[in-house]
Amino acid sequence: MAKQLATQLIATARAMAAEGLNRGTAGNLSVRDDSGKTPGFWITPTGMAPADMEPADIPFMDLEGNWQGRRAPSSEWRFHRDIYVARPEAGAVLHAHSPYAVSLACLRYDIPPFHYMIARFGGSTVRCAAYATFGTQELSDAALAALDGRNACLLANHGLLAFGRDLPQALALGVELEELCGQYWRACQLGEPALLSEAEMAVVIEKFRSYGQPR
Ligand code: 13P
Ligand code: ZN
Repeated sequence: MAKQLATQLIATARAMAAEGLNRGTAGNLSVRDDSGKTPGFWITPTGMAPADMEPADIPFMDLEGNWQGRRAPSSEWRFHRDIYVARPEAGAVLHAHSPYAVSLACLRYDIPPFHYMIARFGGSTVRCAAYATFGTQELSDAALAALDGRNACLLANHGLLAFGRDLPQALALGVELEELCGQYWRACQLGEPALLSEAEMAVVIEKFRSYGQPR
């Protein structure tokens, strides 16, 4: 189980790079594991590119922040840990420095409802969390506040954060959010995008509850 999850984590971290979400050692990824006697999560090691990772490089962390392994965990382990504690529906957490999300995050924009797909993230906006230094509890607190009722947010002057029920869903949400940031950016080049109303978004949010193949 452990080896399988670590292998899946590395494959997903490599897919993030292939999708253009991260370059070099930017970003990080984790997956919850409650199968052992200590509940916790596997997380990418700090300062390593996904191409260089092998399963034995993936540390395991419990929900108090104690870790085991030959490599130190991501410097952002606090927001990964805090999401697993606060959001029981989270099975995997993804953080990226993808180009369009970073660009909007540098403007500290909440992404408005310019497209109905914004509802995929749980509400009528994707919020931008207040700025705090990377790797700090302050950043984690700001991120958790921006994630209230949502499964993704931007991090001011930094990037994006998303979580899903498992690694494939977290990756899909990260890719979708970066795509939406690019679409919003393009629309803003042409003029001021027309925004959907709260009522229009409420219909879509409800529709997404049953969208897709039955699970
Ligand atoms: P890590 O290499 O420590 O995961 O840091 C990358 C990052 O994106 C920090 O915000
Ligand atoms: Zn980062």
